[in-house]
Amino acid sequence: MNPQVDRLLVIGLGLIGGSFALGLKQRGCCRTVIGYNRNQDTLDKGLRLGIIDEAATDLEAAVRSADVIMLAVPVKVMESVMAQISPWLRSDTILTDAGSAKGNVVRAAEQVFGEIPPLFVPGHPIAGSEKSGVTAAKSDLYERHKVILTPLAQTDRNALKLIHSLWEALGAEVHHMDVPRHDEVLAATSHLPHLLAFSLVNTLANDRENRDIFRYAAGGFRDFTRIAASDPIMWHDIFLANRDATLKVLDEFTDGLAELRDAVARSDGEAMLGVFTRAKSARDHFTKILSGTAYSLPMNDNVIFKVQPGGKVQGQIRVAGDKSMSHRSIMLGALAEGVTDVEGFLEGEDALATLQAFRDMGVVIEGPTQGRVRIHGVGMQGLKQPPGPLYLGNSGTAMRLFAGLLAGQDFDTELTGDESLSKRPMERVAEPLRQMGAWIVTGPEGCPPIKIVGGQSLKGIDYQMPMASAQVKSCVLLAGLYSDGETSTTEPAPTRDHTERMLTGFGYPVECDGATARVQGGGKMTAAKIDVPADISSAAFFMVAASIAPGSDLLLEHVGINPTRIGVINILRQMGADLTLSNERDVGGEPVADIRIRYAPLKGIQIPEDQVPLAIDEFPVLFIAAACAEGTTILTGAEELRVKESDRIQAMVDGLSALGVQVEGTPDGAIIQGGGLQGGRVNSLGDHRIAMAFAVAGLRAEGEIVIDDCANVATSFPNFVELAKQVGLNLRIGG
Ligand code: NAD
Repeated sequence: MNPQVDRLLVIGLGLIGGSFALGLKQRGCCRTVIGYNRNQDTLDKGLRLGIIDEAATDLEAAVRSADVIMLAVPVKVMESVMAQISPWLRSDTILTDAGSAKGNVVRAAEQVFGEIPPLFVPGHPIAGSEKSGVTAAKSDLYERHKVILTPLAQTDRNALKLIHSLWEALGAEVHHMDVPRHDEVLAATSHLPHLLAFSLVNTLANDRENRDIFRYAAGGFRDFTRIAASDPIMWHDIFLANRDATLKVLDEFTDGLAELRDAVARSDGEAMLGVFTRAKSARDHFTKILSGTAYSLPMNDNVIFKVQPGGKVQGQIRVAGDKSMSHRSIMLGALAEGVTDVEGFLEGEDALATLQAFRDMGVVIEGPTQGRVRIHGVGMQGLKQPPGPLYLGNSGTAMRLFAGLLAGQDFDTELTGDESLSKRPMERVAEPLRQMGAWIVTGPEGCPPIKIVGGQSLKGIDYQMPMASAQVKSCVLLAGLYSDGETSTTEPAPTRDHTERMLTGFGYPVECDGATARVQGGGKMTAAKIDVPADISSAAFFMVAASIAPGSDLLLEHVGINPTRIGVINILRQMGADLTLSNERDVGGEPVADIRIRYAPLKGIQIPEDQVPLAIDEFPVLFIAAACAEGTTILTGAEELRVKESDRIQAMVDGLSALGVQVEGTPDGAIIQGGGLQGGRVNSLGDHRIAMAFAVAGLRAEGEIVIDDCANVATSFPNFVELAKQVGLNLRIGG
């Protein structure tokens, strides 16, 4: 229900006050809306346009009768207006304002009233236009705009609640902030840009020689200077009112500009590229936030996949580049000497977060443009302290590898991630790093954030890994690059060796001897050219799709078939799948092939434990293969699945049970009875691989499958839905 105010008085009936009055009047939130302005003409217009019910000619009477008063006058007259009304204010009247600066208005209230009245709720709507005056008022001006309220310690909770609900009734998104923070944030996001626009247009306009510039002014000039058409009086008020915060951000900007000036003067292309690429990626990320597609946001949205039953898959596709290699190509390229060119880079949000993290540490990175990235390496000792925590999105790989790389730097860092990454265990990397001499603190229960204190001298260790994990192995080896002497890892079962291969590709010697890998600290890397193969983990969804849908025949191109990753091929073959590899070749130290899959009836098997680490990410979709096979499939030795993006054993057991499959979870695996699936609704728990696995299951289901919480598919496989539809899945996205 809308809030109810008996008598609302708006003092200053311009764009902001008029829109507030009109909006509340139209929404029936006030019994009577009274307007007051210093000139009668404005009030007459207000009455004629239906913005107010009454025009106050006697300010004293209007103030005495009002339950709520909104001050929407220019900032510089706030104090005199407060002084004027203070003798007449009732003790139960709520006072609020819409001034663009808050420190100054709050100080004015203190000055006038002796202390800030508890019923005063300072506020600022982030909405407006270049037009001003009552004729510009619009009832929907605040819809879907932010309004910042800056309550003080003494502000009355009920008064705050009422003002909050009035803005909400106008369709605004209301935020609370403290006064200094408001002034700082607005100085940076609104006041500084206006100052620059006024200054640029003025500078160019003053210069007779430059007159032609206006005649030929195209997009850039027009876009950048649009706000220079704003009301000069209001803006001069704002800079007088928010002087200190504006000066602070103006000084920072001036320093940045001076650096760029230097770079231009020195013809230092690399310095310029550094600034421009960082700015572009920040702006792109910002655009995504504004359109609601950035990695931090989809977690809240329930993206739903709906799959119609039946169909077959056919055609020839190249799936996205390998995620593990995309991450590593950026990391090693950044630390190499020279320029590294990467092709086939996976432009998923996780790999982009890795890229951004290196930009934050001063590395110049161009792209990505259609999978192409150019990294201007800074050498082993060239990273700089980032300005804040490094945000690694949803990626456990990135966080664990970064921990190793950053343990040996001489600056402090903090690694953070999204909600799901923040629940994943990090002690498994912190512990061996501490043995090497690193100073690492993990968050509650050993989860992120990870804080690393720089400047420690690391020494090599011989690490007997308690678990088979490529991320732990890679972390220790990467820390080994910064350690004294030799660092070696010995794994209990084979895991992915992309780090070892790519280090070698960048000219850093790695000695591999069975289960043991060794590096010597203190070496260096040289730039390389990396053509990232298609990700076998992404290809796996289509391998299973073609294997379970009768009539299927699919060719997957340029798939990475690193021996530590081909568990899915070995397991599917053992289940009876018809998979053939052709055109096998070597790309940058990594084996690659085209893979053809034709439908063949599958049978249940006992999955060999030695294949488990080689297929660890593929189990969600292998569970689907098992549910479509004839007989029982038994998985053991896969307890690792319980601490992935979700508890993947439980998520698959729950989902398959909902689809009528007989399945039982065990501490380290599951027992799945094959025979097919019904339709139904399943929850992916925000885990991309669970979502994609159940999408594939639709091919053999008897009814529609609806999958909840699929937004994270974009993190690992941005064009999954497009490719799935292209080859024949009947998949739709809902919300
Ligand atoms: P405006 O010029 O459209 O309206 C201000 C009104 O106040 C005018 O009608 C003016 O005649 C009246 N006024 C001036 N002095 C007065 C006095 N002593 N007594 C009574 N009335 C008086 O300006 P606006 O854009 O509506 O801005 C109003 C307030 O809102 C300002 O404090 C401004 O900082 C803030 N604000 C403006 C915007 C924007 O983009 N325009 C956005 C957010 C907040």
